[in-house]
Amino acid sequence: MPIDAKLPYDEGNIFARILRGEIPCKKVYEDDFALAFHDIAPQAPTHVLVIPKGPYVSWDDFSAQAPDALIAGFVRAVGHVARDQGLDVPGYRLLANMGQDGGQEVPHFHVHLFGGRPLGPMLAR
Ligand code: AMP
Repeated sequence: MPIDAKLPYDEGNIFARILRGEIPCKKVYEDDFALAFHDIAPQAPTHVLVIPKGPYVSWDDFSAQAPDALIAGFVRAVGHVARDQGLDVPGYRLLANMGQDGGQEVPHFHVHLFGGRPLGPMLAR
């Protein structure tokens, strides 16, 4: 069920619980700014989620409210994970769903990293 991304941050959302270590994840990378882990329902041979370490609901919230150092650290972490997964040469796709029309379901900002095969058209028609 897509979320209303203008709601206040919910400390009980599933990714907040993963960040606090209350729920396990298949971690692929962590630093001061970001945590990356395998999506539980992968839609490509590689499907990793990268989340910032901070209470941001969505891209809208993160881009407007996060400090510059966190934004920079998060972007670098996404690039690092993609290279670490061996996706930089064949290429990959990044996706951030935002709000209801974007189809966002988890109200903690995250970027999907897809790769491992040609990914086809950008959007389903
Ligand atoms: P979105 O629609 O962009 O909010 O995507 C949420 C993603 O989180 C989906 O691809 C889910 O499969 C994934 N997901 C939900 N719960 C978990 C979990 N516990 N561990 C890993 N991925 C999850």
